[in-house]
Amino acid sequence: MTDLAGRHGVVVGVANKRSIAWAIAQAMDAAGVQLTLSYATERFEANVRKLGATLRHEPLIVPCDVTDDREIDGLFEEVERAHGGLDFLVHAVAFASRDAMSRPFLETSREDFGQALDVSAYSLVALARGAAPLMERRGGGSILTLTYLGSQRVIPNYNVMGVAKAALEAGVRYLAADLGPCNIRVNAVSAGPIKTLAAAGIAGFSQIMPHYRDRSPLRRSVTLEEVAETSMFLLGPGGSGITGEVLLVDAGFHSIGM
Ligand code: NAD
Repeated sequence: MTDLAGRHGVVVGVANKRSIAWAIAQAMDAAGVQLTLSYATERFEANVRKLGATLRHEPLIVPCDVTDDREIDGLFEEVERAHGGLDFLVHAVAFASRDAMSRPFLETSREDFGQALDVSAYSLVALARGAAPLMERRGGGSILTLTYLGSQRVIPNYNVMGVAKAALEAGVRYLAADLGPCNIRVNAVSAGPIKTLAAAGIAGFSQIMPHYRDRSPLRRSVTLEEVAETSMFLLGPGGSGITGEVLLVDAGFHSIGM
């Protein structure tokens, strides 16, 4: 395992023990990274504090609703106060209501479109802007987000979230271009389906899994640990030459035509 002792990371998107963000946080902690974990609303605070207490290195725990610029500023002020700089940012956040995703895309309301894009795509821009000055102080850094194949292909009941993920992936490339000269890399892992709280908000999610078992080259989807391992590769020195990339960790499903 790569030794990342002395580095600091912010992880946005832990809701519970099944969150992809939590799997990545655990892998970062095991590599020696000192973490700041954020929670979206009070509803998640107790969960995040309980999980944080199980890490080897006690994390800083800070509220951050990514639709609120003051909370984003507050997050990075806390990080600056506690650590002076930042090496890693993990963005594992998305939201659209089940109703908004279930509706035919043609019927997407302006409000649902705005909310999905704001929470799921713009938030990466806002968080990267907050993180960049702290990363520059460390001579560079690495930012990682989570996306899904619904950005490139039509997936039933994904609809407006597919469009939000397409914006997120384009955002990865534009942010990588802006931040590359400061030695800050920006990448995405496009994960295969995993049963999480967010996934439970997608109608018919239980039918996606057997489809991956039938069709993907590895005859399965992926595990939280596999997504975390690839995330560590992209975040850490293994990915030092990679930026603006969307890496598919989906048991090969994306490569199948029929
Ligand atoms: P999850 O529900 O555990 O995580 C989603 C997180 O988004 C939660 O922690 C939630 O609190 C947070 N969030 C929502 N609105 C927020 C807001 N306004 N401010 C701050 N945080 C907010 O589910 P997950 O599956 O671990 O999702 C993490 C990421 O992985 C998402 O971007 C998701 O689209 C992506 N992803 C998931 C899968 C999957 O099958 N589970 C596959 C590919 C990509």
